[in-house]
Amino acid sequence: MRSMSATADPRPSLFDGVGQRLEAAARVAKVSDDTLERLRLPQSVLKVSVPVRMDDGSLRTFPGYRVRYDATRGPTKGGIRFHPRVNTDEVQSLAFWMTFKCACLDLPFGGAKGGISVNVKELSLAELERLSRTYIDRIADAIGPDVDIPAPDMYTNAMVMGWMVDEYSTIKRAQTPSVITGKPLALGGSLGRDTATADGAFHVLKTLRPKLLEADHAGDAAGRGRDGASGDGILTVAIQGFGNAGARMAELCADAGYRVVGVSDSTRAVRSSDGLNVAALREAKSSDGELPADAGEEIDPEELLELEVDVLIPAALEDVITSENADRVRARSVLEVANGPVAIEADEALADNGITVIPDILANAGGVTVSYFEWVQNRSGLRWSAEVVSERLEEQMVREAKNVWELARDHDVSLRTAAYALGLERISEAVDATGSAEAFRDGR
Ligand code: NAD
Repeated sequence: MRSMSATADPRPSLFDGVGQRLEAAARVAKVSDDTLERLRLPQSVLKVSVPVRMDDGSLRTFPGYRVRYDATRGPTKGGIRFHPRVNTDEVQSLAFWMTFKCACLDLPFGGAKGGISVNVKELSLAELERLSRTYIDRIADAIGPDVDIPAPDMYTNAMVMGWMVDEYSTIKRAQTPSVITGKPLALGGSLGRDTATADGAFHVLKTLRPKLLEADHAGDAAGRGRDGASGDGILTVAIQGFGNAGARMAELCADAGYRVVGVSDSTRAVRSSDGLNVAALREAKSSDGELPADAGEEIDPEELLELEVDVLIPAALEDVITSENADRVRARSVLEVANGPVAIEADEALADNGITVIPDILANAGGVTVSYFEWVQNRSGLRWSAEVVSERLEEQMVREAKNVWELARDHDVSLRTAAYALGLERISEAVDATGSAEAFRDGR
């Protein structure tokens, strides 16, 4: 396959890594040449200026982006990130991942991503609102309920989505809730959206855990940790990040009777081999904004990733397991709740050490799945109960987790390659249905 890189930028490109994952999936998936050619480059890359009147009267202009990667399976979908590091390379790589995440979950969407290169911590709330509204003003012609549907991402939230949908509706002179998901409930948001990422990841874990144990029985001559790394049959878990996704994940694990033996946030990491009191941690975190130091034994945050547990759950940042520390990871499996927590070069080291990675595009796809439910509700004018959202989320996550597992087993590849291959096959089916070189040649 030809290189994915579109620029001659000498810095290491995230987008080149994206190409490596596509190449691995293409070796397994039934995929037409047309599809690979189509996926080599994003469909459109929009770069805009976002001028903002600051509170002191001065004007500042921020670079904004919106990339639509591929829309063959439906309107494109993807979050908006406000972060100083946002650039074209990052946004188009994230748009590519969204294309595969939506296809892997069989959602009728393509992939997109957007963002502004800005440090929101330097802005007042009023400046943030002006920034959000002006960004929508700049990209309004490129988005829409049948075109491209943004959502929250790093440093954007329901409040920001509320401003954005309001701005879009003002521009279009029509209330258009389905143009953006992750909105406040009062503006057409969905019940269950705030817990969807962790809830979805937990369904994936519950679905795959018996299969992983079975595989261990068959393949692990040493019998290490067959009944839980604790040796007493209780599944042990360590979680990096105690925010929206991580804290909810800790709660679900504790409620299911698993032992949460370590957690961390940006301030500290704590462990207890008897299990931490997750409810007390959540209460302390919501009142003080940080994990209490006396919750357990305080450890170096790096050490959290090296605890001997059944499941390590990175739920904070990207690239936390790299070629530097991969050999020190002693978990039996890694559930990627964060986006991209295992660097591409660390995948192989983990696999060599018998550690299974449950990939982000499957594990954290509960968020975009409930975003899809929100869009469906907005378009139908119906409101689903929390129970309906929860049931449909479970059905979707369990079904696709099984599909990924079976593809990995049938082709003897990692779950990551299988998840990409599943998405790639679905994208290829759609591309071919619009007419492919093979179809024209064979007269089909
Ligand atoms: P969040 O901001 O609510 O929480 C992030 C947590 O990580 C915070 O507790 C923060 O203290 C902690 N953290 C930051 N730096 C850390 C460090 N160096 N070590 C340990 N902890 C650290 O974010 P979130 O919504 O929970 O998202 C977490 C991850 O999940 C991100 O990678 C995000 O892209 C991914 N994700 C989230 C969603 C969603 O719907 N929330 C969906 C898909 C993927």
